[in-house]
Amino acid sequence: DTMKRIKDDGQVIMGTNAAFPPFEMRQGDAIVGIDAEIAQAIADKLGVKLKIEDMDFEALPSALKSGKVDFIAAGYTIRPDRQEEADFSDTYLKAVQAIIVLKDNDTIKTAEDLNGKRIGTQEGTTGTDLFRENSPYKDVKLTTYKKGADAVLDLKNKRVDAVVLDNYTSMALADLNPEIKLLDEPAAPPEEYAIAVRKGDTELLQTINDTLKELKDSGKLEEIFKKYISD
Ligand code: GLN
Repeated sequence: DTMKRIKDDGQVIMGTNAAFPPFEMRQGDAIVGIDAEIAQAIADKLGVKLKIEDMDFEALPSALKSGKVDFIAAGYTIRPDRQEEADFSDTYLKAVQAIIVLKDNDTIKTAEDLNGKRIGTQEGTTGTDLFRENSPYKDVKLTTYKKGADAVLDLKNKRVDAVVLDNYTSMALADLNPEIKLLDEPAAPPEEYAIAVRKGDTELLQTINDTLKELKDSGKLEEIFKKYISD
């Protein structure tokens, strides 16, 4: 079982997409960010080393299922269809889908203005889902990208009119790209981030929940947020 393998190998493996600042991003050879710090605390609690496997966001669910990784920590939103495939920990952050436009854009001021526009989102994410089945938006021309940063590049090149992406990542990208801004109104109601494990890995899930509780109760989680989220 997973717990035995973790102890035998002396390592626990986190799956992520390290192109999602401030949760996971590359800094030289290292992968740092909020999720990386939470994962390190989980590894410490297990008494093993942390290994991080970086892959496309869309590849994460199958990597978890096949045993390539032990858990997903990726600003990963709890979603009913994902809950059928994996078990989720307690939540650690609320987020929304932010709307990013060029600073000089004066046609997209509210979420409603997304109707009929060219929108960029990140593949496999909740932001993409928003424009698929039962979308509240009409006549959208959707383009999906491997990374939020690639979508922002196309926004700057005027190939899309807006990008819809998780708010903290959007803020991080806005810090790097002075020509873009976030609208005040989000594109969808709030979602919650949590860590996903294989179905039935209850002991690992319990350790993750214990770790999250300790991080919350001690104020350490708040410190981690402050370290990576500037307002
Ligand atoms: N929160 C979004 C989702 O779970 C995006 C996460 C990500 O791109 N890392 O779909």
